[in-house]
Amino acid sequence: QEKMETYAKTEKNGRIGGDESRIHVFVRLRPMAKKEKEAGSRCCVKIVNKKDRLKGRHFSFDASFPDSTTQHEVYTTTTAELVEEVLQGRNGSVFCYGATGAGKTYTMLGTLENPGVMVLAIKDLFTSIRQRSFDGNHVVQLSYLEVYNETVRDLLSPGRPLVLREDKQGIVAAGITQYRAYSTDEVMALLQRGNQNRTTEPTRANETSSRSHAILQVVVEYRVKDALMNIVNRVGKLSLIDLAGSERALATDQRTLRSLEGANINRSLLALSSCINALVEGKKHIPYRNSKLTQLLKDSLGGACNTVMIANISPSNLSFGETQNTLHWAYRAKEIRTKTSDTNEEVIQVSETGTDQAKLLLELQKEN
Ligand code: ADP
Ligand code: MG
Repeated sequence: QEKMETYAKTEKNGRIGGDESRIHVFVRLRPMAKKEKEAGSRCCVKIVNKKDRLKGRHFSFDASFPDSTTQHEVYTTTTAELVEEVLQGRNGSVFCYGATGAGKTYTMLGTLENPGVMVLAIKDLFTSIRQRSFDGNHVVQLSYLEVYNETVRDLLSPGRPLVLREDKQGIVAAGITQYRAYSTDEVMALLQRGNQNRTTEPTRANETSSRSHAILQVVVEYRVKDALMNIVNRVGKLSLIDLAGSERALATDQRTLRSLEGANINRSLLALSSCINALVEGKKHIPYRNSKLTQLLKDSLGGACNTVMIANISPSNLSFGETQNTLHWAYRAKEIRTKTSDTNEEVIQVSETGTDQAKLLLELQKEN
């Protein structure tokens, strides 16, 4: 607990002096599920201090959240700063990815008792708006949509698939419900209803879909006076994304990439990886057009945007392979940035006393 806090602070300092466009990567370990316990599984993931002797394969991230971490702690460390940015008229996006059952929806949406990042972000947004002088001058609009099998659907008002269209605001889903939100109270119910509209796996009828990407877009528009006392309109957009299960997409075995449907999921996740790669490497051409997901996220990924990745993992040794894949993917996302940017960890480490001690690592043990 103490260590996490120290680390979060260090990281925050790193962010301020750091590269604006760098992707922040976090890992959240969920508690062992009843089913996993009953199956006799053991924990194969350990979050350790850098000083500790490491036996297994290990990875380090901006922060690693142990299974005791609250929704609020996850929100504060990963997303709270982005909410501030959105109020400055910039865009931000938070992705949750990982295998089915790893805790993505719990992290993003959560439950009534323990609301997740989506709800806490909106709550924070309303609090900040109320505290500022532009109260009354702002409009908060929510849209919640799904990309399933390269088809876009409105989760707030299900119906025919939506067509993507380019307008002056960027790429938008034509005719999507823009829900004007006035308070936090209505939001959780709204999102839960939306989530029930997510496409369900035909093969596993009782489970929420593992193949659909859910995107909540929160657009904040308000008027402020600038330094010259002109009234300017500011628009900031926060995209919160509960990605499809990564188990197929991250599989290296072609045989597991079955059917068109599976291939399409793969296409969206792969397209997302290529866009992020291209952005971080400073490429001129970013291949947004390769999938519906990346088209929709175009203005949330590039430009004046902050990107946060949360990798969700199960502690069970039964999910060892998937966990390893997820951590590799997450680690790579972090590494890409390190290669292309001057302002990264080395700098943070030397400029911050105690950083080394506070550094958290994630250790993965096959045998336990
Ligand atoms: P995913 O969306 O990645 O498929 P879920 O978020 O649906 O996975 O999580 C699977 C199950 O584990 C759910 O029953 C969820 O409530 C539970 N769960 C996930 N993360 C946590 C957590 N941090 N604390 C408690 N329960 C969790
Ligand atoms: Mg889910």
